[in-house]
Amino acid sequence: MLLLEAGPKDRLPWIHIPAGFIRMLDDKRVNWVYRTEPEPGTNNRAMLFPRGRVLGGSSSINGLIYVRGQRQDFDSWAQAGNRGWSYDEVLPYFKKAETKAAGDPAYRGGDGPLTVDEFPDHHVLTHAFVQAGQELGLPFNPDTNGAEQEGVGYYQQTRRGRFRASTARAYLKPVMERPNLQVETEAMATRVTVEDWRATGVAFTQGGQEKFARARREVILSGGSINSPQLLQVSGIGPGDLLRDLGIRPVRELPGVGRNLHDHFVSRIVHRMKGVASINELSRGWRLLVEAARYALFGRGILTYSAGNGVGFIKTRPGLDAPDFQLSFAAASFKDGVLGKLDDEPGATLGGWQLRPESRGTVMIRSADPLEPPAIRPNYLAAETDQMVTVAGLRMSRAILEAPAFAPWNAGEKHPGLDVQTDAEWLDYARRNGTTVYHPVGSCRMGRDRMAVVDPELRVHGLDGLRVVDASVMPVMVSGNTNAATIMIAEKAADLIRSAAKAR
Ligand SMILES: Cc1cc2nc3c(=O)[nH]c(=O)nc-3n(C[C@H](O)[C@H](O)[C@H](O)COP(=O)(O)OP(=O)(O)OC[C@H]3O[C@@H](n4cnc5c(N)ncnc54)[C@H](O)[C@@H]3O)c2cc1C
Repeated sequence: MLLLEAGPKDRLPWIHIPAGFIRMLDDKRVNWVYRTEPEPGTNNRAMLFPRGRVLGGSSSINGLIYVRGQRQDFDSWAQAGNRGWSYDEVLPYFKKAETKAAGDPAYRGGDGPLTVDEFPDHHVLTHAFVQAGQELGLPFNPDTNGAEQEGVGYYQQTRRGRFRASTARAYLKPVMERPNLQVETEAMATRVTVEDWRATGVAFTQGGQEKFARARREVILSGGSINSPQLLQVSGIGPGDLLRDLGIRPVRELPGVGRNLHDHFVSRIVHRMKGVASINELSRGWRLLVEAARYALFGRGILTYSAGNGVGFIKTRPGLDAPDFQLSFAAASFKDGVLGKLDDEPGATLGGWQLRPESRGTVMIRSADPLEPPAIRPNYLAAETDQMVTVAGLRMSRAILEAPAFAPWNAGEKHPGLDVQTDAEWLDYARRNGTTVYHPVGSCRMGRDRMAVVDPELRVHGLDGLRVVDASVMPVMVSGNTNAATIMIAEKAADLIRSAAKAR
């Protein structure tokens, strides 16, 4: 088996320290550093759109948060005709993937390659967040990846000891020496070749040289929700009119390639805090030296923190069967409310996003050149439901940050500030300040209809020997961060591929 990765080996030290996530959001050494097209629904901003470009992909640069989603997500995939993808059928793959996760063994794994763990410790403000949620009537949930997702609690991480558990570390490293595996880094696939409706190989560039690998069995694309549709399109597999406009001979017309892109759109409320050293202060001067020592000696403290520590899954209106909004708390705040440079004063941030957005966007190539980034149009907040849920979730987030549990430290709301009160003002705030929370899915959707790209065995419709195995095949977004479900998809794909090989 030959594995091609466009990026380098995962040697950058920030990859392995959980808090290093923040430093890689725009690091071209390990990140494609895409930008969205400016869209009117998000105030015409060309938003930073990070994607991992390194062994392990985005799992090597992500926020380490482990969330599976809801039973209903996978049942809805199956309901749409994707046989084999109901919750009961995918649960064994979630369990098979993970190790050491605490919780009910009916849901949690035992000795899989991926270590999922609780945080070694939490900031006092994170405990206040969990308390505040309960003061507002939300149940405490000790395992939002177990039987029920609803409630407030603490995130779990893909972390092994003090280090990140990326897919490269969990799955690839242990088998690197196998004689039947060849891993090529800095090797970018530029075209899938097709003869007589069968994928025959992959052209790629490496070290300035054009190379070609012929596939004995099949070609599997796992380029993610931006690059997999891009590679299909430049290979002539995609919407016929797009391909012809760009002078690409259609090999297989599939109108759905690059459509159905959807993503979680986060908006953040930032509070000033007082009388407490938030992560902002713990990350500077002598306190940082103490934190570095805690990390090095005990594997504890803020260097084990990643994208967030406290989590909530809430219903934004009565009568819903399941939560429709996710809360993500961090005892840190950033200048201008945007992830990047930490504030100079104590602060905390509560981010939130609608779990199952209805808005759909596109990923479309701009030219036949595989090295030119495609146009990414997520179309956030286009659907009215998305607008309503976002506004309702932000209102509930504000109430949580104003709850008695925060009273000893609360020094007032910084962003958006109390001038924002009406629905229109909240929506305007989201449009001006919200952004991707890095979960694009759906652009090579699984299904059986005309707009589907792959079938329930992840084979590209109408071609032999070609599968897509990544987040792009999700027909509908899962209710949570997308890494866990992507790894589940890969676990299941491994079984599908093995059984197809046996049947030959
Ligand atoms: C900054 C960030 C933070 C995130 N935080 C979280 C989180 O905390 N929790 C969570 O659950 N999810 C998170 N996610 C999302 C999660 O990591 C992704 O959903 C998941 O990794 C997607 O996996 P994938 O296989 O679809 O694609 P990717 O992980 O993006 O992998 C695609 C790989 O293919 C390579 N590739 C692409 N094109 C080519 C080509 N032409 N030739 C060769 N190689 C190619 C890429 O370089 C990359 O290594 C985050 C993502 C990002 C970017």
